[in-house]
Amino acid sequence: MRRGFLLTWGMGAPWRRWYKTTRWQRLRDEVFLRDLCTCRRCGRVTSDDARVCDHVEPHRGDERLFWDAANLQTLCKDCHDRLKQSEEQASLHRRGVWH
Ligand SMILES: [Zn+2]
Repeated sequence: MRRGFLLTWGMGAPWRRWYKTTRWQRLRDEVFLRDLCTCRRCGRVTSDDARVCDHVEPHRGDERLFWDAANLQTLCKDCHDRLKQSEEQASLHRRGVWH
């Protein structure tokens, strides 16, 4: 079941813990403030529970990319989910998992 494997990828990876640090929470707040809580894709002003701090270039465990404010953007949840879905599909196709 390769699909199941992909869905659980990253579980227990060290970078998962970075999201729970005060440092990340501070950085995220900085990004939201910088972007005035506005979604970079659709321009909607996001509410607290529908706001995501997204890595423009996926960090894939790279500390430099993870902590770089220039690599972070504010997205509303809708845009974020849509973006991640299409990215995941594209990368699955690239890796040939569906063939
Ligand atoms: Zn949006």
